Amino acid sequence: MEFFPAFLRLRGRPVLVIGAGEVALRKVRLLQKAGASVQLVARELHPELAAEVAAGRLRHLAADYCPSQLDGQRLLVAASSDARLNRRAAADAEALGLWANVVDDPAPSTFITPALIDREPLLLAIGTGGSAPVLARRLRERLEAELPARLGELARFLGERRERLPAPRRRRLTERFLDGPGAEAVLRGDLAEAERQLDTVLAEAPRGGEVYLVGAGPGDPDLLTFRALRLMQQCDVVLHDALIPPAILDLVRRDAERVDVGKRRARHTLPQEAINAELLARARAGQRVLRLKGGDPFVFGRGGEEIEGLAAAGIPFQVVPGITAANGCAAYAGIPLTHRDHAQSVVFVTGHRRADGALDLNWAQLVQPRQTVVIYMGRSALAELCARLLEHGLAPAHPAALVEQGSTPRQRVLVAPIAELPARAETFGGEGPSLVILGSVVTLRERLAWFTPDRPM
Ligand code: SAH
Repeated sequence: MEFFPAFLRLRGRPVLVIGAGEVALRKVRLLQKAGASVQLVARELHPELAAEVAAGRLRHLAADYCPSQLDGQRLLVAASSDARLNRRAAADAEALGLWANVVDDPAPSTFITPALIDREPLLLAIGTGGSAPVLARRLRERLEAELPARLGELARFLGERRERLPAPRRRRLTERFLDGPGAEAVLRGDLAEAERQLDTVLAEAPRGGEVYLVGAGPGDPDLLTFRALRLMQQCDVVLHDALIPPAILDLVRRDAERVDVGKRRARHTLPQEAINAELLARARAGQRVLRLKGGDPFVFGRGGEEIEGLAAAGIPFQVVPGITAANGCAAYAGIPLTHRDHAQSVVFVTGHRRADGALDLNWAQLVQPRQTVVIYMGRSALAELCARLLEHGLAPAHPAALVEQGSTPRQRVLVAPIAELPARAETFGGEGPSLVILGSVVTLRERLAWFTPDRPM
């Protein structure tokens, strides 16, 4: 992040503005709205600025800029038409430890101002770190059109009644008010009705906890479902797997507590029973618990076990499907799982060894013709898996693919005949999750691959 987003309290504080044209005028107007005590330095004045000076709302120094004018100021806004002068002033400010903005010139600026959607006291600030102000303005236009005009009233209404909402339940009560007819009432200007609605919300009994068992898909945040995203933004706590990438966790409500209950291969961070118990305890305590799992929660995810205890205890829960790794990897690797000319069925199996080390699979079923086999968690037992399949009749040239970190910018795909797959996988390496796809559909990749990861392979 190039710039730290913040709102400044400028009321009564001195700010120096250099320049007095159209651009300076816009900045002065905004600074005045924030109550800053503006000192303007310029030889000539825009008529509207002159009017402000005449009305005593703006101090004006009809002089050239000199560094001593920075003394005692809190901020500098350099908005003159002389780019070099602006930069020099910004450098002087920086030397004095003063924040400086050079209008339309982010490089020498130590702060920049965002594109603004003003629904006072609600402000939406859009920044691009100075890289694309036009894009920011486009977004502003779109949001301006979409956001109700009275949104500010709604913020003010809630702000003024903050103390009436008891702190521990404040967020939920506010949400209930916002989701109900009360918010609508404010937006259409009926404050009396809004007040009544707020009383209703306050009178209702506290809501109990619940659990959302949510599939996060194979890694690309764009593959989340709308419902997953909505629940991610309203939970109190998220219990997530190790596989969930930061780009997805970033979409969880910022204030939500984050608990990594991840199970990495051979290193169980938290035993399943402990996770089940944690879900139950937190929901009982009234929390909205998001259990976020890679892929789909009901595909090799033990999702069923996690909600059994909840069902028995009468805790409300819902299950949100996700795109399972097989679907994600197949799509992003250009390998259709079924195809009229290749495979009429597809089997998902786990290549994870049982506790006693055995691979407990129905081998005869896995070597059936005209079928695609997808192996989850097959990496550590890969050599044995392939050997057993060959023993049971798969041809050594049977097409196989290994997809690592499928659907992410780091996706890598290895295609090899099954007899060579284990050896080739050794040199291929890779620490991320990987999936094996077996079947003649793999040959289609040559023509159908479309996704270009950051690190192509
Ligand atoms: N519930 C998950 C699977 C959990 S088991 C789902 O529906 O996808 C974990 C295994 O899934 C990993 O060992 C790996 O085989 C596979 N996997 C998950 N994400 C993957 C990805 N992005 N690329 C390749 N394989 C993945």
